[in-house]
Amino acid sequence: MSGARICETDGCGKESRLQCPTCIKLSIDGSYFCSQDCFKANWAVHKAVHKKQRMKDHMAKENANPWPGYVYSGPLRPHIVSPKREVLPEIDKPDYASDVKGYPASEMAVRGSTQIKVLSSEEIEILRETCRLGREVLDIAYSAVKVGVTTDEIDQIVHDACMERNCYPSPLNYHQFPKSCCTSVNEVICHGIPDGRPLEDGDIVNIDITVYYKGFHGDLNETFFVGKVDEGSKNLVKVAYDCLMQAIDEVRPGVRYRELGNTIMKHAQTNGCSVVRTYCGHGIHRLFHTAPNVPHYAKNKAIGVMKPGHVFTIEPMISAGTWKDRTWPDNWTAVTEDGKRSAQFEHTLVVTETGCEILTIRPEQNRRGHFLDQLDKENA
Ligand SMILES: [Zn+2]
Ligand SMILES: [Zn+2]
Repeated sequence: MSGARICETDGCGKESRLQCPTCIKLSIDGSYFCSQDCFKANWAVHKAVHKKQRMKDHMAKENANPWPGYVYSGPLRPHIVSPKREVLPEIDKPDYASDVKGYPASEMAVRGSTQIKVLSSEEIEILRETCRLGREVLDIAYSAVKVGVTTDEIDQIVHDACMERNCYPSPLNYHQFPKSCCTSVNEVICHGIPDGRPLEDGDIVNIDITVYYKGFHGDLNETFFVGKVDEGSKNLVKVAYDCLMQAIDEVRPGVRYRELGNTIMKHAQTNGCSVVRTYCGHGIHRLFHTAPNVPHYAKNKAIGVMKPGHVFTIEPMISAGTWKDRTWPDNWTAVTEDGKRSAQFEHTLVVTETGCEILTIRPEQNRRGHFLDQLDKENA
């Protein structure tokens, strides 16, 4: 709007061209006064406007940088994290859920052991159900992904979907992780904490869901496009997905766990991408993270040979630039060292007599990652 404005003073009503200098400095819109006298007379009331704006600016600054002096590797910044969500009392919880330190005692008791549990067919049957519920939760989370939605809102949707299915959201309070799922945007490799940042057009976001049901954990994740994404990001996401699916094709009794990294790294590097080394796939059943350790990079020294009844995840994190990672001062958010983007896909699988069964696969006729549907839609 342009031209003369009406004086800010209550009841004055005169045309005014004089603007409050402090308001101009603080980028506050409006605040016109007809004269110096009117401005002075109104000062006591008017100055509250400045105080309010200064407070708002201060909060925005605090939110944008809760760790003064920390040098970020990329453009992403943390936002406000909402309070921890409540879990219905009737839901069966893992041991760390109510521990102040979030300590998974049962898991720590066998830490360092390389012994891989062979699950009975009864146990696999329960795990099948757990993983199916985890898949439902991820599909619901996916349907909420769009420009403007915050990752905190997605976390709320995930949490509610878990409650409706009598599932405990495994990440919640695991080693004190504050939220019910991980949301990893752009240069975040993994373990991103859902917060108040609205998703932006062109983002990629990974949602990692683990649910605990009838004593078993089921773990899966996918990366999704937000709005219109650049070609480089599309390639990255596709490569990460193909890395996972190619590794899954190798799974059968007698194969060494250390072999999977060779397949993954070859595909990543052939397509100009790198493989994150710090975070690995893992055994999963009654424990969230246990033997075997499943690295995604080549020439690794992982211990163990696949046998029917073994249950584990493969979850390659593929980066557009360097494979190197670092962690934000929140002690969770893993980002790429060069600030370039990273993408990931994960399934929980059980080794069968002839190969494997993907427990977290999308059911029905369409067994593919959602991002492929997003691409089809765009090309239609
Ligand atoms: Zn996961
Ligand atoms: Zn996992």
